Amino acid sequence: MGKNLTDANGKMCSPRGDEHSIPFAEFLQDLGVDENGLSEQEAARRLRECGANMLEETGKESIAKKYFRQFRNFFSILLIVGSLLSFIGEYLDPGQGNLYIGIALAGVVVINGTFTFIQEYQAAKTMESFRQLLPPHARAMREAKVKDVLASELVVGDIILLEEGDKVPADGRLIEINALKVDNSAITGESEPQLRSLECTHPNMLECRNMVFSGTLVQSGNGKAVIFATGQNTQIGNLATLTQQTIDVDTPIRKELNHFIKVISAIAISLGITFFILAFLLQDVFLSSLIFAIGIIVANVPEGLLPTVTLALSLASRRMASRNALIKQLESVETLGSTTVICTDKTGTLTQNRMTVNSIMIGFECLLLENPLSSKKTTAGQEAEESINKNDANTDTNVAEKITDPGTEGFCLIKKPVWDPQKLPSLLIKVAGLCNNAKLRESPPGYTGDPTEGALLVFASNLEDIKKLQNDYPRLEEFPFDSLTKRMEVICRTPEGKLEVYLKGAPEVVVEMCGSALISGGTKKMGEAEQKELLARHLRLAGKGERVIALAYRQGEDLREYTEDFTFLGFIGIVDPPRPEARDAIARCHAAGIKVVMITGDHPVTAGSIAKDVGLSNSGKLEIITGDELSLLSRAELASRLKNPSIVFARTSPVQKLKIVQLFQSEGEIVTMTGDGVNDAPAIKIADMGVAMGSGTDVAREAADMVLLDDNFATIVNAIEEGRTVFDNIKKFIVYILASNIPEILPFIAFVLFALPLPMPVQLILAIDLGTDMLPAIALGKEKGEGDIMKRPPRAREENLLTPQLLLTAYAVKGPVEAVAGFFCYFAVLFEGGWSFGEQLARTDPLYMQSITAFFSAVVICQIANVFTSRTRYQSVFTVGLFSNPMVLVGIASELLILALIVWNPTANLIFNTSPLELRYLLFAIPFAILLLGIDEVRKYLLRRNVSWATRFLKW
Ligand code: ATP
Repeated sequence: MGKNLTDANGKMCSPRGDEHSIPFAEFLQDLGVDENGLSEQEAARRLRECGANMLEETGKESIAKKYFRQFRNFFSILLIVGSLLSFIGEYLDPGQGNLYIGIALAGVVVINGTFTFIQEYQAAKTMESFRQLLPPHARAMREAKVKDVLASELVVGDIILLEEGDKVPADGRLIEINALKVDNSAITGESEPQLRSLECTHPNMLECRNMVFSGTLVQSGNGKAVIFATGQNTQIGNLATLTQQTIDVDTPIRKELNHFIKVISAIAISLGITFFILAFLLQDVFLSSLIFAIGIIVANVPEGLLPTVTLALSLASRRMASRNALIKQLESVETLGSTTVICTDKTGTLTQNRMTVNSIMIGFECLLLENPLSSKKTTAGQEAEESINKNDANTDTNVAEKITDPGTEGFCLIKKPVWDPQKLPSLLIKVAGLCNNAKLRESPPGYTGDPTEGALLVFASNLEDIKKLQNDYPRLEEFPFDSLTKRMEVICRTPEGKLEVYLKGAPEVVVEMCGSALISGGTKKMGEAEQKELLARHLRLAGKGERVIALAYRQGEDLREYTEDFTFLGFIGIVDPPRPEARDAIARCHAAGIKVVMITGDHPVTAGSIAKDVGLSNSGKLEIITGDELSLLSRAELASRLKNPSIVFARTSPVQKLKIVQLFQSEGEIVTMTGDGVNDAPAIKIADMGVAMGSGTDVAREAADMVLLDDNFATIVNAIEEGRTVFDNIKKFIVYILASNIPEILPFIAFVLFALPLPMPVQLILAIDLGTDMLPAIALGKEKGEGDIMKRPPRAREENLLTPQLLLTAYAVKGPVEAVAGFFCYFAVLFEGGWSFGEQLARTDPLYMQSITAFFSAVVICQIANVFTSRTRYQSVFTVGLFSNPMVLVGIASELLILALIVWNPTANLIFNTSPLELRYLLFAIPFAILLLGIDEVRKYLLRRNVSWATRFLKW
């Protein structure tokens, strides 16, 4: 029966091409499936025969291309030019050691490029493994049961269930739809989501409305489809140009690095050229001037910087992953750190997304039930309620009488009951249970599906047998919930054969559609005044932070969507307790100068109450702006209201979420946007940093730069801390690396101006930049954030990585101390060896070899003090604890080891032209190292005391 899947050329695993137009029965028969779905055994067989439902990545940059991309940066180009010039030097005047310099420089370029390449490759792998931590799932019908399966294990013939927010996992033909709209832009480029149908509407499969295609997104509604193509056989698999989804946009850190590279290269080139000309004019020797220019360039280029930055970012991303925040692109780590505004949705991020029915108000009788088990009234809720009671003269505030009725499953009646809760109008329970797409789950007990609906279903199932209800009242039509209409409607057939329409949704939407309301003993006509009164009453629930759903019903004649003449049944208040960690996380954001903005589709009173509960209003008066207001406010008015430190946007539409993010961006803010639903995706995409919940929809996860595995707002704040720390750390190791440029450059200048024997030849510069400096720089990248990291305002958008203050600290404060140390030890050796000013020394003269060894040693010893003091930017380094970053100690050990080798190892002596040295020459450098440490401590002290000139010139 069905497809001959084992066809020799494998053809039968691939689609016929006319699946959209063949008669439905033939289609099913061809796939060998009925409405119960495949058996597990058959599915396993098909999986073996046809392979996994996965796409091969094509159009990916080849490894070789990636490798060679590493040599395209300015630093590498400068070093390549330096290397070529050295070879020319060797050609013109052989035997002067230029050949080795040329080879060394070329080697540096290769090693550096390779190292960066390996770093990036590993980072990409890590990112990939992150992605695999969240494998796409699908719901398929197997053996007449709905099962959760890995999307990669879907096979031809599987029946899949699709819901709002899902990514379609394979190509299928629809067999059931409820207002299903699919965004086909990934395949056809059409930007508008398309309503699906069960009919074949076009001869071309791609245009045909009864099809869904792998990689497209379900925007709204739901449906079922039978899969006829998987993996490479799908339409998207056929698109040869499929590339990785990540688009190369310049992240802030990449822009900063490009800027950094340009500035340093410009300094290197201009110094190189200036001193080449100067040297040539003074000494009139072309060749030595040329070699000298190369030296200047090499001294200026921080060869080890790029791989160190990549490493710091990738370590940070791993640290973030261990704290449940997975980022898709390495450099986004830093974007997070520069966040100034977090726009967050409410449900699931600030609250636990554990919804339970808490209160019920029925019709006009105002019966208020409260479930004492789940309701713990918060102070904010109480305040809101009190203020509503005060303002609402119509509301009967006689709530003093509490009657607990033990026979009612924990329900406690706050007001004298008009109805016995057990005799809640059966219509209300029916609407709650039937106008509902959630499913009850036996183990663990609960539900699957939308939490709001789940809460209603659990509530209804406590009072009625839902299975029986569903059988007695079969659903004939559904108009699913969507955040734009804020309502859901279903049409069911009653056992008597009549049609009944069940409606639930946001109070103001539902009440407006009602012409009457249920009262004890019948119904009551409702005009505008009664509608207003009803709406005023529901605020009592909203004021406690409850999400209020209104329920209504009417008779139906046909299967169209009804919008009027409903009978209002009641309000159900659902609680979703705030996350315990949210309060603290929001307080941390406020301390860190980050504005937290709640954007929700919920009612302003509900939103306001939750906002108070989580401490959003602690930084000032809460500004609540509703979607309706938003569309009326002028640009200027809005901009001024956005200045408020605490803002809640309520009853917003998806389009407005996007607009809010864009508004903040146009005010110069760096916006992190979190969300989980389809309606959040556009805003997530456009935000500087889009964050999705791990449990959120595929659509939101797809759009995001970061996914929170634990769905927790506090995790975003931790990630921001990592981001800020990384930026600080990169600055720290840049200062550290750049400081040694001065003792590397000055020897060349002294060589030209005073005709000194060159105190620091190129090979020793490289030994510092790529040897002794490397591990300590990496260690600084692992430094923990300073105590004030989340207490200072976010960095200004215009604050660069390479600021004049940073250059001043490296080049004018630390660097000169190191240079003086170098020259001191150098001269000490020379003078004690009987040298006098103006005397030239041969390259192989032991005195010369000793003098350059002394210079080199002094710089390395000073760099040891430098790495130690660079651990903090403002705090005294003595406050951070010697062992708090053991990697720094490893770095220092590596510096000492390399130093010892270069000074005392005969082979190293040969390579570097160095010579063993008496220990005392090395000790001469120590006071300078201590001086460097002391000067930097004074700098930090002045900054902590806010001394204005120090802040102006030395704060970075
Ligand atoms: P949040 O910020 O809390 O995640 P949201 O922006 O996702 O909220 P929606 O889910 O669009 O908000 O809900 C808006 C309103 O629609 C709710 O206040 C509620 O009254 C109503 N509502 C929510 N879910 C449903 C549903 N499944 N059926 C009917 N009405 C619903």
